[in-house]
Amino acid sequence: MADPYGFLKHDRADAKKRPAAERLSDWNEVYLDLDAETRGSQVRTQAARCMDCGVPFCHSGSAGCPLGNLIPEWNDLVRRGDWEQASDRLHATNNFPEFTGRLCPAPCEAACVLAISHDAGGAVAIKRVEQAIADVSWDQGLVKPAQSHVSSGKRVAVVGSGPAGLAAAQQLTRAGHEVTVYERDDRLGGLLRYGIPEFKMEKKVLDRRLSQLRKEGTKFVTGCEVGVDLTVEQLRERFDAVVLAVGALRGRDDTTTPGRELAGIHLAMEHLVPANRACEGDGAPGIDAAGKHVVIIGGGDTGADCYGTATRQGAASVLQLDQYPQPPSQRDDERSPWPVWPWILRTYPAHEEAGERKFAVAVESFVGDEDGHVRQIRLREVRVEKDASGRRVVVPTSEEVQVLPADLVLLAIGFEGVEHMPLLDALGIDLTSRGTISCGSDWQTQAPGVFVCGDAHRGASLVVWAIAEGRSVANAVDRFLTGSSDLPSPVIPN
Ligand code: SF4
Repeated sequence: MADPYGFLKHDRADAKKRPAAERLSDWNEVYLDLDAETRGSQVRTQAARCMDCGVPFCHSGSAGCPLGNLIPEWNDLVRRGDWEQASDRLHATNNFPEFTGRLCPAPCEAACVLAISHDAGGAVAIKRVEQAIADVSWDQGLVKPAQSHVSSGKRVAVVGSGPAGLAAAQQLTRAGHEVTVYERDDRLGGLLRYGIPEFKMEKKVLDRRLSQLRKEGTKFVTGCEVGVDLTVEQLRERFDAVVLAVGALRGRDDTTTPGRELAGIHLAMEHLVPANRACEGDGAPGIDAAGKHVVIIGGGDTGADCYGTATRQGAASVLQLDQYPQPPSQRDDERSPWPVWPWILRTYPAHEEAGERKFAVAVESFVGDEDGHVRQIRLREVRVEKDASGRRVVVPTSEEVQVLPADLVLLAIGFEGVEHMPLLDALGIDLTSRGTISCGSDWQTQAPGVFVCGDAHRGASLVVWAIAEGRSVANAVDRFLTGSSDLPSPVIPN
């Protein structure tokens, strides 16, 4: 039984970060890697703040955890120091809690009852507890391959090895199907490998989980673009079902700002992928920010990843621009009784290290030199409104134009859905107006026996949603292959 007064006895304490100067000198994770004993005692105190609410909003519902993580249960187990049971209960709903503990912006914390009142001291530090359980589980050897003792005789191909594909593959393998994951890149992990910088999640965290999947029996094929290197006819012949987990990596471009054609202006992923490859030992980082005045357009997750990458590459300056106003957490907004997520999360550790941010501004034009390379941006203050038809419009609020240096401009203004790929043409699958792949209530696309999950279905979203969809599609595929399924299905298609 949880202590209902725990939150009155203990203050919320977030995980400690390494000093900014030290972080900038390497690519390792931002947070301090505490010894097991210290981490354990600190996290037990944080877990003890949980009241074990009768209606735990953190755990489910429209605002809580999409995976239905059993948060009050494992908070209490951690409070009591029962890491083994906590690990069991956490893994019951989440295949990869070490990913979500590091990367998820924690909608559960925004939904926590303690987040409503400032007097309560803030939400339970759920994300920190989750990561600690996952890391302790690995440290203590509690994470073991869970091999299936049955074989269905059915074969499933999973196309894409990001979090959705890996979750689907693990669930289906454990259900007794023969699963092969195809990845077009040379290494596994999708966005987790080449999109997320090392300072947010070191790749050894991904590799140890992949090793578990291999031991369980999931097969992996890298460097294979399904639809090209493996034809749809071969795919159909070899597999009884196919899961598309191909992500939504088509970056939104800026097609209207004068000067966009200048050299030195790139989509965010053109910067992040080679930088992450360099961390894997693949040589030079491609678009290198070293010595450059870097301007990042877009205030979200991807922009922050570019920000931390550029500062670590040794940029002369880094400036991130956002059309929206400064987040409430940075204003004196103590009067509001309501949680400020996701606004509060628009400040990332990378922003504390170096560089500058400007809010409520937009680029009016890019200015180049005689060689056609961007050298400056012209900025105006703006506000974002909706027009009569409900469309978002950006309105200048000042006549004044600021001219700032810019040798490298990175566009981190979102994603527009699934990239063009021959596989979809060959399967006869059309994209929606959002650039995503639609499906029925059984996660099946317009191509019979072909299912979809993750960003390819949902559009670019959180890692926790990718895992939730991967688990749900596994239930649907299992049902399709065998007529029923005991696998969990935490979410329904949108
Ligand atoms: Fe604990 Fe907060 Fe969830 Fe309540 S809402 S059970 S206090 S984590």
